Amino acid sequence: MNLMGFDSHCHLQDPAFDADREEVYDRAHTQELGILVPGYDMASSDRAVKMAQSHEAVWALVGCHPHEARTFSDTDQEQLRQWANNDWVVGIGEIGLDYHYMNSPMEIQRKVFRDQLELARDMNLPVSVHSREAEDDTWAILREFPGIRGVLHCFTGSREFAEKLLDLGLYLSFAGPVSFKNAHDLRAIVAWAPMDRILVETDSPYLSPVPWRGRRNEPLRVIRVAEVIAAQKNCSTKQVFDDTTSNIIRVFRV
Ligand SMILES: [Zn+2]
Repeated sequence: MNLMGFDSHCHLQDPAFDADREEVYDRAHTQELGILVPGYDMASSDRAVKMAQSHEAVWALVGCHPHEARTFSDTDQEQLRQWANNDWVVGIGEIGLDYHYMNSPMEIQRKVFRDQLELARDMNLPVSVHSREAEDDTWAILREFPGIRGVLHCFTGSREFAEKLLDLGLYLSFAGPVSFKNAHDLRAIVAWAPMDRILVETDSPYLSPVPWRGRRNEPLRVIRVAEVIAAQKNCSTKQVFDDTTSNIIRVFRV
């Protein structure tokens, strides 16, 4: 299998794709795109593993999103561990902190984030981290796990946060928001971020890039994200895919 590039974060198992999932996959596969599918709760992690088993260009991550942290149990942690032993599972995610929606209490979000980071460390797997309005706590907790591999997915944070994450050895993954009209600060971070430390993603079905903003997103549109990054870097889209593919292989060992 020859891959041109990767969508490093795409919820292809989401019900938004129930009607045409195989067509969406085929459109990306025809363009030689690999897809990393992270879970956000136990059921979606299970579906991610099954998708990876049945599709040659799909790899799974398993994990509990901060929104669902209040439902996470010790049994779930054991189930994640079992899945993580599977060859198709390349990481733990998505995990992290979300102080914007606060669907789970902060204390519980932090505990579940730490539990899953411990699992990733035990299993020597990378993590895909979600962080919204929680930069200080995300950084403080990640710092408790020196040497952890991983990526801050859909990075839309501050330049200071980006620098701190790079110092920890983590990667920054950029999604559709880099194309949004008012995202000048984010595009400045894209222009500055080292090519050997960035990834591209769609976060489908969310966050379609311009000109599809507001519509259901799909993995094929990672090409649009790569085009925006290429414009910021004064390089070709192919170069962005070549570099981010090397980065994905280094972090997730796909
Ligand atoms: Zn996501």
